[in-house]
Amino acid sequence: MRLLEEKILRNGRALNEDVLLVDSFLNNQVDAPLMAEVGKTLAEAAKELGITRVITIESSGIAPAMMTAMTLGVPLVILKKSTSRILKDDVLQTEVFSFTKNAAYQLTLKKRFVLPGDRVLLVDDFLARGEAAHGASRLIEQAGGSVAAIGIVIEKSFQPGRALLTEKGYKVISLARVARMGEGFIEFTEADA
Ligand code: 5GP
Repeated sequence: MRLLEEKILRNGRALNEDVLLVDSFLNNQVDAPLMAEVGKTLAEAAKELGITRVITIESSGIAPAMMTAMTLGVPLVILKKSTSRILKDDVLQTEVFSFTKNAAYQLTLKKRFVLPGDRVLLVDDFLARGEAAHGASRLIEQAGGSVAAIGIVIEKSFQPGRALLTEKGYKVISLARVARMGEGFIEFTEADA
């Protein structure tokens, strides 16, 4: 997605060779018109897959996932990263290791928002080592749904997430694929849409 790559080049910043800062348009402040384009592009790429639900992980996945769900005309379901007192019954949980926080958390799905037979488009902001997407897929499958595709806003292609997910048979649709980055430069490889 050319518009997204241009935005990353203009406003993204490689903190080092591993971490990309996109706080001004995705993680802290959100560029809503750009997210609308992200949503249209992901929805277009997934339009033949019979998607019945979009699922994302709080919090940075919500903006792109919401726009995707709106374009597809299906519900959006949000997986939570922590347990709360009102999240007790009817939940499925799995442990996920966070790349950015360097700590594990319990990813939580309210089961009644995934129905047996649901075809899910899982959407997240970043794909790094694939832990988050893999954990989310486990929960969706435990609930009886299937993951028709995994839509990613920014994939760091030099990290093992994509290989892990494709080896497990998941279809990955990444809108920007960073091949290499470092202080003052970000290089892309060909995106999926
Ligand atoms: P994974 O589970 O694939 O290792 O990491 C994916 C999650 O870690 C994403 O949901 C995202 O929140 C976070 N993440 C991974 N790498 C980066 C990065 O370079 N920049 C930012 N802002 N978040 C990242």
